Amino acid sequence: MSHESWGRLRLRERSSVDAESIDAFDDKTAGGLLPFGNGRSYGDSCHNDAGTLVDCRSLDRILDFDQETGDLHCQAGVLLSDILAYAIPRGFFLAVTPGTQFVTVGGAIANDVHGKNHHRRGVFGNWVQSFRLMRSDRGTIQCDRLQNSDLFAATIGGMGLTGMITDAVIRLVRVPSPNILQHTLRFSSIDGYFDAFESFDRDHEYAVAWIDQSARGNNFGRGLLLGGDHAEGNGRVAASRIQARISVPFTPPISLVNAMSMRAFNELYYRKEKAGSSVRDVSWQSYFYPLDAIGRWNRLYGPRGLHQHQSVYPEMTGRQTTIRLLECAQTHGHASFLTVLKRFGGEKSPGLVSFPRPGFTLTLDFANQGKPTEHLLDALDDIVMEAGGAINPYKDGRMPADVFAASFPNWRDLEKLRDPAMMSDFWRRTAMDLENRN
Ligand SMILES: Cc1cc2nc3c(=O)[nH]c(=O)nc-3n(C[C@H](O)[C@H](O)[C@H](O)COP(=O)(O)OP(=O)(O)OC[C@H]3O[C@@H](n4cnc5c(N)ncnc54)[C@H](O)[C@@H]3O)c2cc1C
Repeated sequence: MSHESWGRLRLRERSSVDAESIDAFDDKTAGGLLPFGNGRSYGDSCHNDAGTLVDCRSLDRILDFDQETGDLHCQAGVLLSDILAYAIPRGFFLAVTPGTQFVTVGGAIANDVHGKNHHRRGVFGNWVQSFRLMRSDRGTIQCDRLQNSDLFAATIGGMGLTGMITDAVIRLVRVPSPNILQHTLRFSSIDGYFDAFESFDRDHEYAVAWIDQSARGNNFGRGLLLGGDHAEGNGRVAASRIQARISVPFTPPISLVNAMSMRAFNELYYRKEKAGSSVRDVSWQSYFYPLDAIGRWNRLYGPRGLHQHQSVYPEMTGRQTTIRLLECAQTHGHASFLTVLKRFGGEKSPGLVSFPRPGFTLTLDFANQGKPTEHLLDALDDIVMEAGGAINPYKDGRMPADVFAASFPNWRDLEKLRDPAMMSDFWRRTAMDLENRN
């Protein structure tokens, strides 16, 4: 099985062991291990190239479900797609889901992922009741808000560094239907978003905006604001497991994502919606997981892969920061194929080192063009740092250690609880670099 991360920035063979075959960590080599989920992180936080990955995908069993509380007990390698296939016919849905359903429960906890309803329901960690954690120094221990609560907090957003989650109990929510009544607002400039986001957040369970990053002049920052609420049920059980309808079979020799293809795509995507506001029923698959319809779409970025830059910055100066970030990408001559803007709410994560915090979050995808892309990413970091924001570590393959420290001033609290056998390439080049400077 492949152990690439989604950005495909450093393709190579990686050594791994199957989690199913492990009852305890016998190999206690310092920093020799790291759990691996389904490789949907973009950079190097799911890699440990000097060590061995513990592949959790074989831990794939759903163990129990309590119809009253919505508590689902499953092994850590179960995919969110498997949970949906199980939960939807029973009238339940994930309380929080990221933009792909092909992530494991262990990966979702370890990165404390967020979804389109952060303003209402917080992060994935808010819905985790408990888990068991296998450590090299303490065996397998139960963690929840009362027992081993320090490790419970450190593991949520702890990027696999505190040990391996073997199984977890997560709370699902009852929904009238998995499908969505979608409210779309097509806005012709960035002002349109900032005029409308507040009422969308207030009125809808889900709200997120797609921005046409290539638009200039009067159209700068135009896009679509997509609000959504679970539609009323109609007695029919929605289709369960979805498969990618098409898949990119190989990596083209050059990136097919370039300024020209991007402008054409953005124009079409923008124009497919009516001007102004519209309302319609859409399937849960197309609302939550539009990208999952094309398998391995990351290959379209060619052999050099892609960088994703996700930042969060304070709401007070959010409009100016958003404009500066979008302008910065344009002046560097880089086109972001998928640009997503959302406001995070105030719900606090139980995680110690969790990325979401109140403010706006902007996500930009860039084909990797080497040095010019690195310069752009550094310039974007500078804008976010000036604004007092943070950069997402599990989307990252290059942020400097200082940017990491400014983004997560309490990173040492996680380091104290790290399982000594665990290490990632990300942690080595950020936290360990900072530690070695002292
Ligand atoms: C198309 C797409 C859309 C996305 N949309 C969003 C989004 O909207 N919101 C968002 O937050 N993220 C989003 N992501 C990122 C993705 O949701 C996260 O990176 C997710 O955590 C990946 O899970 P994974 O199972 O693939 O784990 P991996 O990427 O393999 O690993 C993630 C981390 O979890 C650790 N880990 C894995 N399994 C375990 C375990 N059993 N015990 C302890 N640690 C473990 C790893 O060590 C690693 O640090 C998106 C990614 C893609 C490709």
